[in-house]
Amino acid sequence: MADVKIIDVSPRDGLQNEPNLVSTSDKERLIKLLLDAGLSSVEVTSFVHPLKVPQMADASEVLKAVANFEDLKAIALIPNLKGYERAKEHQLSEVNWVSSATETFNQKNIGLTIDENFNQFELLVKHANKDGIKTCFSIAVSFGCPYEGEVSEEHVLRLVERARNVGVDRIGIADTIGIATPNQVERLMKKVLEIAGEIPVGIHLHDTRGLGSANAYAAYQAGVRIFETAVSGIGGCPFAPGAAGNLATEDLVYLFHRMNIETGLNFDKLLDAADFAASLSSKQPLGRIRHIEREHTRGNLL
Ligand code: ZN
Repeated sequence: MADVKIIDVSPRDGLQNEPNLVSTSDKERLIKLLLDAGLSSVEVTSFVHPLKVPQMADASEVLKAVANFEDLKAIALIPNLKGYERAKEHQLSEVNWVSSATETFNQKNIGLTIDENFNQFELLVKHANKDGIKTCFSIAVSFGCPYEGEVSEEHVLRLVERARNVGVDRIGIADTIGIATPNQVERLMKKVLEIAGEIPVGIHLHDTRGLGSANAYAAYQAGVRIFETAVSGIGGCPFAPGAAGNLATEDLVYLFHRMNIETGLNFDKLLDAADFAASLSSKQPLGRIRHIEREHTRGNLL
């Protein structure tokens, strides 16, 4: 029995900003490798407008390609109700809707005010409930915004409360630009968990400044048991200037396993998935453990 649940977002967050177009079959292979490592919940794609994020233009094809993957709980990011209409045609476990904690980031990312966006989300919950698809409400830039700087905890907590009140199935708190510090994470996540009550809460971490693992541990200490990461630490948000990759799944799993916190994942197979993800990225991915482990295997390190 796993103590924590890790959701890998590499096929979506990891690849959305990748300038080299990754083929649908390579995305399918990445998802298969993640599944083989024990990652059953995977954010596989986004139904964002293809002109806005060309890398996600094959959202439908990706979902068709993985439809027969046994045990896969596919999650898709949905930026608007139009995206939901396309997404619901597929076998999906959950749709992930994003709001920002600040108005400026919401305008840049989604083109709506936070209230306008939330009204759409309320409709989404009604549709998704009818269609038997779970919903997640993710709050971007919860720990700091590239446009507005510091983010008031009140803004985040009010959104958590509103999402809870409309019957969301999961809440995600995102450090979109990797600016959070461990004390900030622990403080905010304790408050979020209290307001969310029975609703599961996850944290979505970027490792921009090398604090991803420290922040994950702080979240764990606060009581968070769901973590969103990407193998090999690929990725970054196209609408967040300076946003680097996600916290690497294998770096977090290494940390947890060393502390006897069970993830239910196979670390060696996770490294295979991380190697493949890194091969798809045109940037040097942020993950650290993969290099160390590979050097060990080659006998170059003691
Ligand atoms: Zn992200």
